[in-house]
Amino acid sequence: MNWMEKELEAMADASLIRSLRACSSIPKCPGYTVRGERALLNLSSNDYLGLSQHPSIIEVMREALLIEGAGSGASRLVTGNRLAYGRLEEALSDWQNCEAALVFANGYMANSGVISALVRRGDVVFSDQLNHASIVDGTILSRAELARYRHNDMEHLRFLLSKYRDKRRKLIVTDAVFSMDGDQAPLHELVLLKHEYGAMLMVDEAHSGGIYGGRGEGLCHELGVQNEVDVHMGTFSKSFGVYGAYVCGSHTLIRWLINKARPLIYSTALPPSLVAGSTKALDLVQTEHWRRERLHEAIMLFRSSLSAAGFDVGAGDSPIVPIIIGDNDMALRFSNALEDEGIAAVAIRPPTVPDGTARIRFSLSAAHTDKELIAATARIRTVGLQLGVLRL
Ligand code: PMP
Repeated sequence: MNWMEKELEAMADASLIRSLRACSSIPKCPGYTVRGERALLNLSSNDYLGLSQHPSIIEVMREALLIEGAGSGASRLVTGNRLAYGRLEEALSDWQNCEAALVFANGYMANSGVISALVRRGDVVFSDQLNHASIVDGTILSRAELARYRHNDMEHLRFLLSKYRDKRRKLIVTDAVFSMDGDQAPLHELVLLKHEYGAMLMVDEAHSGGIYGGRGEGLCHELGVQNEVDVHMGTFSKSFGVYGAYVCGSHTLIRWLINKARPLIYSTALPPSLVAGSTKALDLVQTEHWRRERLHEAIMLFRSSLSAAGFDVGAGDSPIVPIIIGDNDMALRFSNALEDEGIAAVAIRPPTVPDGTARIRFSLSAAHTDKELIAATARIRTVGLQLGVLRL
């Protein structure tokens, strides 16, 4: 096992080593995380609507835990398919206004399970270069060819679609909002290309579900393309504040996945308490509109304050706001200095992002107040100036 030590040392030399750090939460304070003895403003969580500490979700989960027990005991196709699943899937279909829905254990398993069920050797997956790792891994698992197109570059996608036009099945996959950049996919153009080349279209709404659309349905609904998207996927771990994932689409798609998606078939069903918690969260996502409104206010304020401070935050209106630093070590130093200032904002480094684009990825929550965000941007500016990332 000596090779491991050597490789780990090389990673440490390149400021690419990771370690697990203990964090804890503060009851009723979803905007903060505790490291050691200190409460830090949490600008590195995906709890966009601040639901992770919602008393009604916690109560529903507690009740389900007492009645249904700790675990589901088997996979869904055996005896793990508790009534809670059916209730959640029905609520999901109503919410998305689609024929059917299927709950997965998490987004990683949903993406890897769906893609490997839809395509196989001889097929091709057209995937944005910045898509989430679970989409890339799902494609590798499927043994279909991976055709990666340059980020949001529709001309490049068209070129690849035409190059592979004779392949059997074609699947275009994109994140709706990109997890490390916070920008959006050009969904209208993707729909046009899908029709032109006879491809299937799958959209991952992990970072847009709960945030866009009148009832938080996601970016596809916000842009009115929901009926053109064949596979609509999202997670319960971000805006919903719980854990799990969903896939929505036609009856046929869901029947196919129940029979073919291996992560669903060969893994134990989620504990019923989590499914019940996500069902409650789905209800709140649709009814507590003020959370979405508050989040969008926070986004506008934070983006404009950082911009006024001299940072390039790019275009966009998503809660993911990156500051590209470039150098891995500098990104780490920036993150450590922010922690000294009472802010949790982790450095994101390769291979999560392309080489030379290490960054601080801020993510916002409806739980953050204007006062907290204004104070945070002042501290981010101070650190930027101290480290020479920002120049006057
Ligand atoms: N898709 C995207 C775009 C993501 O950012 C993530 C989580 N980081 C996932 C899928 C995986 O979701 P989960 O955390 O529920 O496994």
